[in-house]
Amino acid sequence: MTAKRILIVEDEKAIRDMIAFGLRRAGYEVSEAEDCRSARAQIVDSRPDLLLIDWMLPDMSGLELIRTLRRAKDTEEIPAIMLTAKVEEQDKIGGLDGGADDYVTKPFSPRELLARIQAVLRRAAPAGGSDVVEVEGLKLDDSSHRVSTGEREIALGPTEYRLLHFFMTHPERVFSRGQLLDRVWGGSTYVEERTVDVHIRRLRKALEPFSLERLVQTVRGSGYRFSTRES
Ligand code: CA
Repeated sequence: MTAKRILIVEDEKAIRDMIAFGLRRAGYEVSEAEDCRSARAQIVDSRPDLLLIDWMLPDMSGLELIRTLRRAKDTEEIPAIMLTAKVEEQDKIGGLDGGADDYVTKPFSPRELLARIQAVLRRAAPAGGSDVVEVEGLKLDDSSHRVSTGEREIALGPTEYRLLHFFMTHPERVFSRGQLLDRVWGGSTYVEERTVDVHIRRLRKALEPFSLERLVQTVRGSGYRFSTRES
């Protein structure tokens, strides 16, 4: 197995060195950037498997950097963990809404950071050539287009199926209605944003008999998220 590549975007050299040291020792390949401009150049050059992005950076905020990456086709899938200082903690939800996969509050222990990195990389890993995704007993088999839980099959319309497939392969991240239209409907046809709500409702209704509708969560003012955590 080749080493996973992690790009650290952090302007404070001491912190960057400390993180880089720990990650290299853990077997990761590490590159470093001290601002967003340098980070973007490096990402274009060779795509990292994961980004660690500090919230406060000299040229633009780490959150803006993530947003920019999420808007571009070739970088939208790169997992990102935000590093925030204690005082910025109230903004961490904003970080997740902005497309970060997780956040770690400074000061953090190298062990905590490693655990978060491993969890995010695991979620981002393609399901080992298999077309099956499974979350909390909810199983989606993309080769047969079947959704089931236990022995019972869950009947879904084609749009609900695509929506669920997208959610299950992009868990724990908030998507706005506009983003869902782009990603699930393809953004090519003219569809109103409230159409998303209609299909979310249908999807939840189909999952309800199995008490799985709680996985499809409304994030007030932001959109929707597929999550196993309490909303
Ligand atoms: Ca900083």
